[in-house]
Amino acid sequence: MDIVKESVQTIKGIGPKKARLLGKVGVYTLQDAIDYFPRDYEIHPGVTDIVDIRKGEFVSLSVKFQGRPQVLRKHKNMSILRWTAKDDTGSIVCVWFNQPYRANQYKVGVPYYIYGKAEFSYGGIQIHNPLVKEYVREIHNQCQIIPVYSLVEGLTQKDFKNLIGQALNRTEKGIEDELPSIVRERFKLADKGYSLYNIHFPKHQQALEWSRRRLVFEELFSIQMALYAIKEKFGTDNQGLIFQWDNKKMDKFIKDLPFALTGAQKRVVGEILEDLRKETPMNRLVYGDVGSGKTIVAAIALYAAVMAGYQGVLMAPTEILARQHYETLKTLLEGCGIHISLLIGGMDNKTKDQIKDNLSQGVVDVIIATHAVLQEDVQFNNLGLVITDEQHRFGVRQRATIAQKGNNDPHMLVMSATPIPRTLALIFYGDLDISLIDELPPGRKPVKTYHVPASMRNRIYGFIRKQTMLGYQTYMVCPSIEESDKIAVQSAVELYDELSSGPLKGLRLGLLHGKMNPVEKSCVMKKFEEGDIDVLISTTVIEVGVNVANANLMIIENADRFGLGQLHQLRGRVGRSNSQAYCILIADTKSSKAKERMDIMVRSNNGFEISQKDLELRGPGEFLGVRQHGLPEFKIANLIRDMDILKEVQTAAQWILELRDTGLKNSILEKAYNKFSHKLEEITLN
Ligand code: ADP
Ligand code: MG
Repeated sequence: MDIVKESVQTIKGIGPKKARLLGKVGVYTLQDAIDYFPRDYEIHPGVTDIVDIRKGEFVSLSVKFQGRPQVLRKHKNMSILRWTAKDDTGSIVCVWFNQPYRANQYKVGVPYYIYGKAEFSYGGIQIHNPLVKEYVREIHNQCQIIPVYSLVEGLTQKDFKNLIGQALNRTEKGIEDELPSIVRERFKLADKGYSLYNIHFPKHQQALEWSRRRLVFEELFSIQMALYAIKEKFGTDNQGLIFQWDNKKMDKFIKDLPFALTGAQKRVVGEILEDLRKETPMNRLVYGDVGSGKTIVAAIALYAAVMAGYQGVLMAPTEILARQHYETLKTLLEGCGIHISLLIGGMDNKTKDQIKDNLSQGVVDVIIATHAVLQEDVQFNNLGLVITDEQHRFGVRQRATIAQKGNNDPHMLVMSATPIPRTLALIFYGDLDISLIDELPPGRKPVKTYHVPASMRNRIYGFIRKQTMLGYQTYMVCPSIEESDKIAVQSAVELYDELSSGPLKGLRLGLLHGKMNPVEKSCVMKKFEEGDIDVLISTTVIEVGVNVANANLMIIENADRFGLGQLHQLRGRVGRSNSQAYCILIADTKSSKAKERMDIMVRSNNGFEISQKDLELRGPGEFLGVRQHGLPEFKIANLIRDMDILKEVQTAAQWILELRDTGLKNSILEKAYNKFSHKLEEITLN
């Protein structure tokens, strides 16, 4: 058996009881033990000669105790132990308060390390309550960096050090270096064995830094290569498509839109149209904050595709959003003679079959769809453009699957309002070109956001009534982790019942949640869009994309249960016209962290800033929804601190992809694929 897979119980000092405790932190094998990196380090400076000590300094000394310890009893509850210690250059006095047992703990004439703050008194040097350690030859004269591990109850730092130290010794030869040697050489990365040893037991500060850099590099590199490998596996190797169209018609189309494009929209449209004319398939991310007007950009790209003689698909993550896009795009495109259809799971089979036929025969030019379009029996005649909206909801594999439905490599455009922090964007979209819509349509005012405790409910209801009287509409959202979350549905239903018979009696209330069937859902949405519902009580099914400009009040129940990115998305449902919009976050925040999160929402309307703060406060694990989406938790990389290393990793990954030695390149990709693909294919960023 692989030595690294042996149980921790094979280590001296680890019996069944300790093994069980280690299991609580996921440490079962020697490999797990080695990968259990220190949470922090205690740094003790190098050993100083007594003659060199300066006043007030913290020092490590290598000394022997001299003569008999002296115990003074001041009064009943106070004892002072003084003991002289010497090195070759001088002597000091160690002083312990109320620790008389120290007198029996150490032996005269035996070398020890002591550590503490040097005080000068009565002409001599004293160290109060020094730490004393046994002398170990190797660390003499060197700074000591002591690992600090996250503990479980019942285990000590010493247990971990013992376990990991032995595990390292035992597995020295059995650990595989996952970094290809060419990468290691070119980026001057430390050896794996060295790094593992020094991440746990650093010889010195520099060794720790080298080791950490190397291990972070390895971790990020493996994930990056795995993502590339997935794309290579599912991507086609065909050539791209050169789109050609009538510029005059395009100009007219843009001129006839119901509004003038913003400067940012114009720029982004320009970038996209330029890509579409090239043979290299477009691979572009359009990032624009909620309400910045991404849909219209998609419409223009689709128009170009159809004029060039190709079919286009726009994928949306929810049926509600797909329907809404369908309605919007129909009014924009149908007038130009473009045949546009909707394909969603909730349709009956007969309709679906008809649409699939039309698609494969090329009768349909543009299809707006949910995941339903990914199914195998959906075929295109000549797919040329794939757009995914709110693309963070689609996994890497899903994007690749749709790309394969084209005869050649279709142009790909992904649109997102979920501002993921730069580091993550680089990992996930490393190979994408990015277009930014960094401007809102003219006249938009920032949404005014308030954080209030639940006790202010009655005032909130009063505010809803007031807004309704003014002719505006309101969203009320109950938390859920996933759309189908039972508890959220229940709380939305209860809130609806309570409000309609009580505080909001007389208003027209609507209820929307994931458990309703698609027909019911779209019926409620339609009523809300047409202004026949004043207050829509819902789960987060309305989170992404929904666009009802007349709604300008968003109330979020238990707001502290949402991620900040999600809150920002929800808030983005309002403020879509030029009237002042409001967002009220109801949360009885107990922890200061929760309060801080709410404060960020109140202060900032900038999605990018919000996501960065969220990442800092929650940590990358939770940010990515590790448990829900299965992204491997980073063992050592810190996505905030390790930006520089990530940049190098991406240079390295790109270099590998371009290697002439395809055998080497493929073996690297294959390895990364085998290690991570099962975890990465379905991840979505949330
Ligand atoms: P998002 O980027 O969140 O997807 P949408 O595409 O839904 O935003 O656009 C938000 C709203 O702004 C829509 O009602 C849309 O019609 C409108 N809109 C988009 N671009 C402009 C513009 N240049 N001028 C005025 N209104 C615009
Ligand atoms: Mg949108």
